[in-house]
Amino acid sequence: MTEIPDLLERRAAEQSRIRILLNSMRAEEEAKLKGGPDAVAWVKEEQCIGCDQCTIVCDDDAIELYDTPLASPIMDVDVNRKARILRDPCTGCKLCVLGCPTDAIIMIDR
Ligand code: SF4
Ligand code: SF4
Repeated sequence: MTEIPDLLERRAAEQSRIRILLNSMRAEEEAKLKGGPDAVAWVKEEQCIGCDQCTIVCDDDAIELYDTPLASPIMDVDVNRKARILRDPCTGCKLCVLGCPTDAIIMIDR
């Protein structure tokens, strides 16, 4: 059976893998995005699939997931998860934008 320490170890390894990938893309993509102290991330709820990638890449604990009723009647699960940005700790670093697989995160003016 998988133990908690194993999961934490796998999460850390995944975090490292994503970070390396992001760093390789970062310079090119970053130049196109608004960012820095005058910007804050924003999640387009309808595009968020609750995959948790953004919370893995955010170094500033500025993203949390919350439960929401599932909109689709064809899937047999009670709740879905969505991400939300915590404005105060968000530094505008844009990593979450690059890490989101569904392009659900945008940068807006603070
Ligand atoms: S990475 Fe994107 S799709 Fe995944 S939880 Fe975060 S905002 Fe939602
Ligand atoms: S822009 Fe940076 S600090 Fe803000 S939520 Fe995204 S990853 Fe976290």
